[in-house]
Amino acid sequence: VHEPDYAQILSAIAEQVAPLCKQGRVADYIPSLASVPVDQFGMAVQLLDGRRFSVGAAEQRFSIQSISKLFSLTLAFRLLGDAVWQRVGREPSGNPFNSLVQLEYEQGKPRNPFVNAGALVVTDILCQHHAQAEVAVLQFMRRLTGIADLNLDAEVARSELDTSFRNAAMANFMKAFGNLRAPVDAVLRSYCHQCAIAMSCSELAHAGLFLANGGVIPGSGERLLTTSEAKRLNAVLLTCGTYDAAGDFAYRVGLPAKSGVGGGILAVVPGILSVCVWSPGLDSNGNSLAGTQALELFTTLCENSIF
Ligand code: GLN
Repeated sequence: VHEPDYAQILSAIAEQVAPLCKQGRVADYIPSLASVPVDQFGMAVQLLDGRRFSVGAAEQRFSIQSISKLFSLTLAFRLLGDAVWQRVGREPSGNPFNSLVQLEYEQGKPRNPFVNAGALVVTDILCQHHAQAEVAVLQFMRRLTGIADLNLDAEVARSELDTSFRNAAMANFMKAFGNLRAPVDAVLRSYCHQCAIAMSCSELAHAGLFLANGGVIPGSGERLLTTSEAKRLNAVLLTCGTYDAAGDFAYRVGLPAKSGVGGGILAVVPGILSVCVWSPGLDSNGNSLAGTQALELFTTLCENSIF
């Protein structure tokens, strides 16, 4: 089988998406993210055989934001297995990531674990098992990457917490329906801190590799999920990982992926590689504008989507 020339493809992508990097809008509802310069781009590919390729600012750390939801869900899935789905659904929402509308008619049960309401429930599950849920997520990232000096940006966490009126509304509403166990303040605090973890494209691609490898961390051989569980998480990523743009993303890119309003998108080609792209300018759905285009070019040029 002919293998793509990853180095050459990445530099072609960086060149092609450069004009788009100037066009998106940074997330400004979190004050400390509003000051991130928009015109930046990085991309890193990590193959299962250990080879790595990157282009641009692939080593620069950024706020992983909702990409953290993939890792908190993995931890909750390891704790509860399919019982997770009693608390949170697994259907695409068709609504923005921070929408409240669906919560009332579905009695406080969020549509999926990747919209904010669903991620708050997942954080609540972690709060039942860990004194500090965000520390559990951070330690998980360190274990996945083997990098001890990963940290969260306390300034970003504080900035989000000070302005998280919508997330507070969702958390209180779900609490009223009995779908949060921990105190609302504790869940919000942990959630904002886990979103403020700072990592680079290279580090995130490395962290996501277990999902390309049937649930096993390639370096250590440690099994985190069964093959079947990894398949299931990848399915939820495909259908819900990019919010109300998940259909368009599957059409254009064709990979399980998770985006965040920091401008990162982590995607997986099962059996082959993981890839992370970062460009802070967002489209109207809150996904990186240049990042989505870069991944579309990547699967087109490499001919390696899941379809
Ligand atoms: N921390 C952000 C929020 O709750 C995460 C949203 C995102 O990355 N889509 O609004």
